[in-house]
Amino acid sequence: MESAHRHRDTVAVHAGRADLEGLGVHALPIDLSTTNPIPDLEAGGLSYESMASGGHPLAEGGLVYARLWNTTVARFECALAELEGAEEAVAFASGMAAMTAAIVAHTAASGRSHVIAVRPLYGGTDHLLASGLLGIDVTYCREDEIAAAIRPETGLIVVETPANPTLDLVDIAAVVASAGSIPVLVDNTFATPLLQNPVALGAAMSLHSATKYLGGHGDVIAGVIACGAETAAALRRVRAVTGGLLHPLGAYLLHRGLPTLPVRLERQQGTARRLVEWLQEQPEIAEVHYPGLDGDPRGLLRRQMRGTGAMIAMRLRGGFEAAAAVTSAVALFTHAVSLGGVDSLIQHPAALTHRPVPSHARPDPGLVRLSIGLEHVDDLRNDLARALRAIPAELISA
Ligand code: PLP
Repeated sequence: MESAHRHRDTVAVHAGRADLEGLGVHALPIDLSTTNPIPDLEAGGLSYESMASGGHPLAEGGLVYARLWNTTVARFECALAELEGAEEAVAFASGMAAMTAAIVAHTAASGRSHVIAVRPLYGGTDHLLASGLLGIDVTYCREDEIAAAIRPETGLIVVETPANPTLDLVDIAAVVASAGSIPVLVDNTFATPLLQNPVALGAAMSLHSATKYLGGHGDVIAGVIACGAETAAALRRVRAVTGGLLHPLGAYLLHRGLPTLPVRLERQQGTARRLVEWLQEQPEIAEVHYPGLDGDPRGLLRRQMRGTGAMIAMRLRGGFEAAAAVTSAVALFTHAVSLGGVDSLIQHPAALTHRPVPSHARPDPGLVRLSIGLEHVDDLRNDLARALRAIPAELISA
């Protein structure tokens, strides 16, 4: 479907549905087949070979086996690529499976062994990079130190913006310029394809934990990477060989949820902005983290984003004890990890999502992260007010 002149809201509704009319259906179909009839041995073998090396199925040879290709997953990938303004997209069983495939494709599979990463990153990504499981060497640096950190064996640069959990922004175009020919992966989970399109800014890959805003309802674990055709083939090859494919039911749910992503996000962002204004005035809070609160000195909100999103972090004056008091005193917010769903969540990064991060790089123990859902702003404000007042007074004055 030609989407060059369509608004994103319209693309979110119609993307990836071009074949439905030909199939005689209006709602998205789900293909749960694990295997597919092979029309002809020779053609089937060639189709297998094409897909196992990252290509598409060959029309005469069929789909062969669902670890190589699934039409329900491919339809969601098509939709996501269109929404991101990228040539293709490749979906995985989780955000971490997507991150693993991106690292493997750009290191072991391409004869490189070094990755550069800018912190903060989601704790799971930080953990994966440092784990030793992938046989890579990692240099952590600030974004202005990237050019100096590049070595002949560098295969990938990983950044996250807005970053989990502090909402720090990274200048994508500047990172791409420092990277030269080294591919840049931007974790775009917090921004969604609606607020930021890293591929248009020169990044090789825009990665989403689709578990979050894309799924939006807390019932799918998934990951997806939007990228150019060549990169997509490299990622599909790793996916076919290592088996990190997204289940078709998950792909169906993700695709089904995309049309409401713009209205969900607009409402969540509006509520987040009103809460941020209020949170900044609360005596229990030392600092609120939200894009633009620093006055956006580098103009990143204007240059690379179309909105500020619906994630907030707040550093409490009473440190860890105050954070523990607030997370256990909320009633409407659910105390749980993950984010981007229809209901509001609160969690403590240093103890949970970022627990595997080395202590010198771990988030502040007084930091609490909020994911704003679709509840009424007054009810969320009242819940937070009550939880903040539950902090023992001696912790705030200490
Ligand atoms: N990237 C970000 C920014 C995340 O917040 C997460 C999970 O919280 C991931 C990646 C990993 O995604 P998943 O949990 O779907 O594997």
